[in-house]
Formats: sequence, structure tokens, C-alpha cells
Amino acid sequence: MSIAPRWPLCVCVLLVACESAAPPDEKVARFSASRVAADVQRLASDEFQGRAPGSEGEKKVLDFLVGQFEDAGLQPANQGSFLQAVPLVSLTASPDMTLDIEGPGFSARYAVGSQTMLSTKRVQREISLDNSEMVFVGYGIVAPEYAWDDYAAVDVRGKTVVILVNDPGFATADPELFRGNTMTYYGRWTYKYEEAARQGAAAALIIHETDAAGYGWNVVATGWSGEQFDLVRANGNQSAVAVEGWLTGAAASEILAAAGLDLESARQMALAEDFEAVALGLTASTRFSNEIKNLDSNNVAGLIKGTKRPDEIIIYMAHWDHLGIKPNLEGDRIFNGAVDNATGTAAIIELARAFAAMEPAPERSILFLAVTGEESGLLGSAWYAEHPLFPLNQTVAALNFDSLITDGATRDITVFGLGSSELEEYLERAATKQGRVPVNEPTPEKGYFFRSDHFNLAKAGVPVLYAEAGVDNLQHGREWGVARMQDYRRDRYHQPADEYDADWDWGGVLQDLELYFEIGRELAAESTFPNWYENSEFRARRDESRSSAD
Ligand SMILES: [Zn+2]
Repeated sequence: MSIAPRWPLCVCVLLVACESAAPPDEKVARFSASRVAADVQRLASDEFQGRAPGSEGEKKVLDFLVGQFEDAGLQPANQGSFLQAVPLVSLTASPDMTLDIEGPGFSARYAVGSQTMLSTKRVQREISLDNSEMVFVGYGIVAPEYAWDDYAAVDVRGKTVVILVNDPGFATADPELFRGNTMTYYGRWTYKYEEAARQGAAAALIIHETDAAGYGWNVVATGWSGEQFDLVRANGNQSAVAVEGWLTGAAASEILAAAGLDLESARQMALAEDFEAVALGLTASTRFSNEIKNLDSNNVAGLIKGTKRPDEIIIYMAHWDHLGIKPNLEGDRIFNGAVDNATGTAAIIELARAFAAMEPAPERSILFLAVTGEESGLLGSAWYAEHPLFPLNQTVAALNFDSLITDGATRDITVFGLGSSELEEYLERAATKQGRVPVNEPTPEKGYFFRSDHFNLAKAGVPVLYAEAGVDNLQHGREWGVARMQDYRRDRYHQPADEYDADWDWGGVLQDLELYFEIGRELAAESTFPNWYENSEFRARRDESRSSAD
């Protein structure tokens, strides 16, 4: 089938300074909307069955991506193979579990779904928590760079910790505390469970609040029920807490009241510099069994070897997976994931073509990494960060695409987590050439920065960028752009309706490709390693890792 893109021209028409700035060999159009559109259409077709990890659809995706990477001129990045196996395990907990809280004169049973959510990452059939002492640990944060330690005065080994969501900066809106209204990783639920595990807790229960979490209880209730995926790790995730859970605000209020506290004053207490964890004088118990399944999935990785500094790596990444098929839906049951994330996957293929054709070839190596399992919890990228194909301390940067804007060129570029790293200076230079302005995401308190794959590399210290065309549409203006974004979130995001549309305007995608290309080209020509800014929670990790680089 032929495609008639609405953006038939060279991307150069978008670039204010293009004519004068580009060297002669760059005057050829680097990016083609029709190629990108064709790749998106193919990846989002029913043939690929919604691209679920481990499915028949995955085999088609892998064939397609390997073919496109080969045609682009990439080399296999994993010892002769384009594939990196990512072993996954899924756990489905028995749905009838309850959380039982006991104390002097208090006994209550909380139902999963309406009052609490409970799950485990430990790969074992039976999970039990028996009369585990409960401790309120405030925000449950240990953050040396902010001189903050909620666990300083308490030993929680074997205990059940009760934790507030988000971080003190959000709670107070004090820009001097953490990063103010911008959620730090310490505010994210994954961190809370990880820290509780480091402290040796048996269970961790997070108190849900819609504002502070950035999503309603319904998201918690659906997200934590049914089949839960994870990576297969050598220790079967025995280092995780046995029980990871959530409490509704109402359930938490009742439990804290039984300990003589109220939720609001507990929250205030937790903000104090001299806060110390509080033993609640209550115990928590639960018991459930898991159905365990293993499945094999893959990341796809192709390389352009650098001509001068081949050991130094720049990563372009995007998740290829989506939600698959839901057999019990009425009507269209295939989640084609055209925007999310056929667009990002097609974008890295197109960048691969551009870099492979670049003359002279890049001095540093460039890795194109299509990761699996994003929709199941950023799993393919977590696997890569734990099993990198190239040392992370020699990995200069990771630039992620997730769900590009298909509504045309924009005056702004949305940067998630703006204010994080020196890479933003590269982005700003490239954006300025395009006449575009980088802007922060509109809701930094919601922690979107932690919700796509670049984050796993950030956590491992690698500076990252996650940006996409903004909402200030060149042709239709900002209001229109905002409305289109809201339509997408409401009508298509994570629904079967996220389908390829022949009427899309590829102008914004072409701008984003050019922007990411410029950043990579600049980085590839340098020997510098841009770092996180001083106030970043990832800086210490990077400094430590770089100091061990030769
Ligand atoms: Zn996505």
C-alpha cells in the first residue's frame, strides 16, 4: 500500500538557520516522513498483534527491526546478534487476599481492590507476612544530597513500613526542599519499595493520595491486579520486600488513628528535619499464593562503530512493545500502539539511517536500542542497565523517544525533568537552531520522567534526555495543541484506538528527529562526558561510575 504523507518536503523548511548553518553535504534531506510513516504503519498494523512481549507478535517485530537495522547499515551490537534476550517472569497473585491489622483493642481486615493493593516481586509460590510490626517512616527516603534520612533512628528489619507518597518538596512546594514541585526519584513508588528492601523491611505499604501520586486509586487498583511482570534475576528477587502494597487514604487514616495518630499530623511530622520513624504498636499480616509463568523476550540493538572513540557510546532508545491483544474486549481487541510507541521505534530506525549515512562517520559509537517490556514496568531497559552491552561508565548519554506528537511542527519542545543535566545545553543549542524553545513538562510533580525507559539508565548514572514536540503548534497555535494532547490522553492512550492515521502531520516528528540528531552529532564529535547537575539525585552515581572509567 502506498502512503501519501502530508509532509512531503525536506525538514529544512522548518529550520530557520538551516540554509546558512548546514555544510554542503547536509543539504540532502536527512529524514523522510514517508519512510517514518511506513515504519509506523507497519509496526502498528494488526499483523504485529499489539506487540506484546513473548507473543507471536514479538517474532514479527524482531524480524522487522533486525531487517530495518541491517538495511540502515547497523552492525549487530551483541556478539554478532542484533538481539539481547530479556528473560521475563510473570506472577499472578490469588485475588482473594486481605490485609489484617491487629493491635491493642484494634483488629481490622482490609480488602484488596477497594482498600489496599498487595503484590510481591519475589518469585515464589507462597507469600506470607505474619504479625509484622508496623512502623510509620514518613516519606521513607534516604537522600544524602539533601541530608535526609527517614530510617536513621530505626531498625525496620522484618517489619512493615508505612510510607507517604511523593517527596517533601512536593508537599511543601518549597523550592529549596528537594526539587520543590518537581518530583525527585525519592517521590516515586518504585524508590519507596527499593529503599524499604535495602533497609531489610518485610513489607512496605504506601499511602495513596491522588494529588501526590499523580494518578487516582483506580490506576493503583488496576495496575497492581492480575498478571505482574518482572525480570528473571538470579536470586528470584529475594532481595525485594516480601510484600509491596498500597493503602487508600481512608484505610491509612483508620490504621494511623488506631495508633493514636492522624494522617494530616503524621504528614506534618514527616516534614520536620528532626523527624524520627514512629512504631505504630500494630502488626500486619497477609498470605497469598502466586501463579508463576516464564516468557522470553528481546531487546534489539544495532551499532555504528565510532571512528575515533569507539568505546564511547551514545544511545538512542525507544520501546518497541505495547499491550498486545485483550481477548475479552468487545469490538477491536488489538492494542496497536501506533503513537505509543511505533512512532518512537520508527524514529530510532530513521536516526540509524541518518547516522549510518553521515560523512564523515561519527567519532563515537552510536547504539540504537529498541527495548521490550516498557508497558510491563520498564523491564527491557532495566535489563539493559543491569546487563549493558557496553560499559555504562563509557556511555555518554541516552536519548529516549516515547510517543511522538503526530500533529505537526511546534514552536516548543517539551523536556521531561528539565533542569537535570548538562545534556539540556546541547538540546537548547539544537532547539535554538530550529527556532524552538525548550519548556518543562507541564506537570513535573507527576513524575513522568520516571515513567519511561531512559529512567533506568539515569538510575545507573547515565545522563539522559527525554523530550518531544510540545503543544504550541506552528499552524494552529497552543490551545489547539493542548486540546489535541488531551484528546489523545482521553480517547487513544493505552486503548485499541491508538491506531495509525494517514492524516497525521509528521512535521513535529521531523523536527524531533533533527533535534535529536544534532545533539548526537555534537556529542559524537566531542570527548566530553556531560554530567548531571549538582542537585540531581543521579549525580553521585555518575561521579562514582566515571571515576572508575579508564
Ligand atoms: Zn510508551
